[in-house]
Amino acid sequence: MGSMAHDTLEALYKLARQGKILTQEEMLEKYKSLWDSNLPKNLNIVRKEMIAEDYFKLGGKCLTDYYSRFSPFDQEITIGLERRVSIVLDEDGQFKMTGFIDRLTRDSAGRLRIQDYKTGGSLPTQPEIDADEQLALYQIAVEEMWPDNQGIELVWHYMQFDTTLISHRDAEQLNRLKEDYIERIKRIESAVELGSFPTNETNLCDWCEYNKICPAKGGPGAAFDNDQLELRPASEEELAALVDEYVELDGKKKGLESRLKEVRKILIACAEGGTGTRHKGSGENAVLVTLEESKKLPTRTAGQSAVKDIAALVENEGLYRQYSLLDINSLQKALDEGLLPRDLTEELRARQQVSSRETVRIKKAR
Ligand code: SF4
Repeated sequence: MGSMAHDTLEALYKLARQGKILTQEEMLEKYKSLWDSNLPKNLNIVRKEMIAEDYFKLGGKCLTDYYSRFSPFDQEITIGLERRVSIVLDEDGQFKMTGFIDRLTRDSAGRLRIQDYKTGGSLPTQPEIDADEQLALYQIAVEEMWPDNQGIELVWHYMQFDTTLISHRDAEQLNRLKEDYIERIKRIESAVELGSFPTNETNLCDWCEYNKICPAKGGPGAAFDNDQLELRPASEEELAALVDEYVELDGKKKGLESRLKEVRKILIACAEGGTGTRHKGSGENAVLVTLEESKKLPTRTAGQSAVKDIAALVENEGLYRQYSLLDINSLQKALDEGLLPRDLTEELRARQQVSSRETVRIKKAR
């Protein structure tokens, strides 16, 4: 539904730029034809209480509300639709990301506005929008493309709520974001290298950006499949040599990880708070250490009572369902132990997915 609404607005603005303003009916016809030609045959709807038609109507309502508010679509000049941008995070261009801006415009004051359409069912608060990273990353790219801009605004249209939210970011916030993303990229790359990429398989994996490198989806570190059988050693001696190599590499990895932790600790101890301390190496390399404090709500590792206390507060406001997540591990345990009602047990068993797990532990030979 989200993609069809996006594609409809893209078509609408493309034509508007050429001087042709679609009527509301023409826009809805476009939406219907996109819907009919793109609806997959084996549609899997995650929310069981909804059918495809419900989503179609919801998308139609989002578009109608949007049309009423913005027609005749001449408030700003559209510079780009589904514009691909390259976000360069470091000076050497070693860390880059790609993004697509739903709509990029210039308003009468000359400001560039990075606009995003959201069709989801929850409306964020202003502080949440001010902490959102997606459009801020796009801002990094847009500033690079038009350094002499008259200001940049981040704009979200929450279409189910017929609401527009706006946020602004300054240079310091963008620099912090760049450093944070460089760190994240490094963490992901090192998790892939160490074969410890964390997974949490759900129905939503098909939409996940990482599914090409995720071991749960056949990426590096995934279980051997039949195509990889030729990797099997030819003899017992070769297998024994592989075991020795594995034990040796594992020992080296542990040694390296523990030294890495120690060095990291020392570098942090030598740093000061604020925007960051750059420790220079003997050659071209340096490390940037940033010490920041932020306030976060306690998680379960801080103790059950702290979490329960927060849950009670949220429940009192009638907001518990909105912010709570199903504890799937406890539910699985109850299912395995036969603690659930029969009907529910059957329904849950029908939805279970086969998963496999490989463990390799080093033991003494017998
Ligand atoms: S594909 Fe992998 S990384 Fe993505 S959500 Fe699923 S388990 Fe997580």
